[in-house]
Amino acid sequence: MGRSWLRFPKAIRLAFLCFLIAPYGQAQRTQFKEGWNLYSPQEDITLGKQVAIDAEKQLPSCNAPKVDAYLTELGRKLAAKLPARGVQYPFEFHCVNDKAINAFALPGGYVFVNRGAIEAADNEAQLAGVIAHELSHVALRHGTSEATKARFAQTGVGIIGAIFGGNAGGALLTELGRFSAGGVLLRYSRTAETQADVVGTQVLYDAGYDPRALAQFFEKIEADSQGKNPPEFFSDHPNPEHRVERVQQEIDKLGGLPAKMRKDSVEFEAAKREVLALPVVKRETLAAGTHVPRPMGPPPVPSENYAEYQSGAYTLKYPDNWQKYGEKDSVSFAPDGGVLEGSDGKAGLAYGLIVDVTKVPGDPADAAALEKATQDLIGKLQKDNPKMKVARQPGRVRLNGQLGLSTYLSNESPAGGEETDWLITVMRPEGLVSFVCVAPQKDYEKYDKTFGAILDSVRLAK
Ligand SMILES: [Zn+2]
Repeated sequence: MGRSWLRFPKAIRLAFLCFLIAPYGQAQRTQFKEGWNLYSPQEDITLGKQVAIDAEKQLPSCNAPKVDAYLTELGRKLAAKLPARGVQYPFEFHCVNDKAINAFALPGGYVFVNRGAIEAADNEAQLAGVIAHELSHVALRHGTSEATKARFAQTGVGIIGAIFGGNAGGALLTELGRFSAGGVLLRYSRTAETQADVVGTQVLYDAGYDPRALAQFFEKIEADSQGKNPPEFFSDHPNPEHRVERVQQEIDKLGGLPAKMRKDSVEFEAAKREVLALPVVKRETLAAGTHVPRPMGPPPVPSENYAEYQSGAYTLKYPDNWQKYGEKDSVSFAPDGGVLEGSDGKAGLAYGLIVDVTKVPGDPADAAALEKATQDLIGKLQKDNPKMKVARQPGRVRLNGQLGLSTYLSNESPAGGEETDWLITVMRPEGLVSFVCVAPQKDYEKYDKTFGAILDSVRLAK
C-alpha cells in the first residue's frame, strides 16, 4: 500500500526519489540559531564601527595597502558564502603590524588580521580558514550575544531570569564606556567556538578551499607552541574539544572532500612575503585596550581587599576584583568569568552575589511578614528556575542586628553541575531585601568565606 510508488515507471521513480532526497540532503548541513541577543543587526554595525575606529587608532597598521587589498578581496569572497540572514554587513579588513598569531572580528564585520597570522599560515586555505572562523562569529552575532549576557548580569536579575524590555540600543553607548572594546565583545564561549568552526568550514567548502584547512591551522599553531605560551588567538577563542573531529564530521555532512580544492595562490605568497619584510613593532609599544589577552577558566580568587557599594536601603563591601553590575537597589557583583551561558543558551550568574529589593509591604519587626515574603520570593525563583530546590529550610539569622532568614537553595549551575544559592532575606521599609550568594557546589567552599565577609559588611539604612 504505502509502497505503491514502486510501480511507477523507472524515470518517474527516480525523479520522485530525487525530490525526496534533495531537500533532505541540503538539511544535512549543520545550521545554528543565533544565540540570545538583545541587539539588532543594525546595532551590531553601529557598535562594531565605533570600536573599530578606536582599534584602528590603537593598533599599529601594517601600512601595506597591497596586503589590505588582498585581505579585503579574500575576506569579501568568504563573506559572500556566509549563511544569509538578510543582513548586509559592511565587512572591512585590516592588517595589523603585530607578530602575535591573532585575528579578531568586531560585530558588523570589522576584521583585523595580525601579520603574525599571515606569517604562520602555510597557504591561502589556512589564512582563509582563520578569516572564515572570524566571519562566522560576525554572522552568528556572537559578540553582541556576549554583550547581552553582560547586560543580563548588569541588571542583577540573573537568577530570577527576567527578560529585558525596551530598547537595548538605548543603553548601548553608555555601556561602551563600561566594557572596553576587547572586553565583552571578543570573549567567546566554547560553544561559540565550535559554531564558528563549523560555519567557517562550510564557508571554506563553498568558496572552493580545502575545508580541512581551518582546523589544521588551529591544530598547527597549538602544536607549535608545545603547550607553552599558547598563541594569543586562544585567549579570545578558547580551543573547543574535539575540534578536528567536529570539522571532519561537518565535511562528511557536506558530502566529503570536494574533488577540486584550492590550497594556495600567488597572491597569498606575495602578501606573506610583504608582511615578512615589514619592520617589527615591539610588543611593549602596542597600546593596550583593544586586545588584552584574558585568562579563561574559573574566575580568579576573590580579592581580600574590598570596595564599598551604597544603595538607598543598605551598604556593603565586596571583593575589589569583582565588578558591580546594575544600579541602585538591583545589583550584582561578580568576578571576571562569573557570568556564563547555561545549557538553555541563556546567561546566568555562576559566581557572585545578587542583591535585590522586592517592594512588598511589611514591618521590619514582623517575622510573619518576612517569612511570607521570603516564601513568595522562593516560589518566584522556582517558577523561573524549574530545577531549583530548597536544600535547607529558612532559619532565623541576624543581619546587621536585624532579624533575617537564611535559606539554602540548589539549582543547575551555568558552569555545569549543581550550584548552591545561599539566600538571606530581611524586611525593610523599602521592601524585602534579598542577598543571593551563588557558586557551583564544587567551588562553594572557596567562596563561603567571601560571602560571609560580604554579609558581615552589610549595613542596613537607619
Ligand atoms: Zn573564535
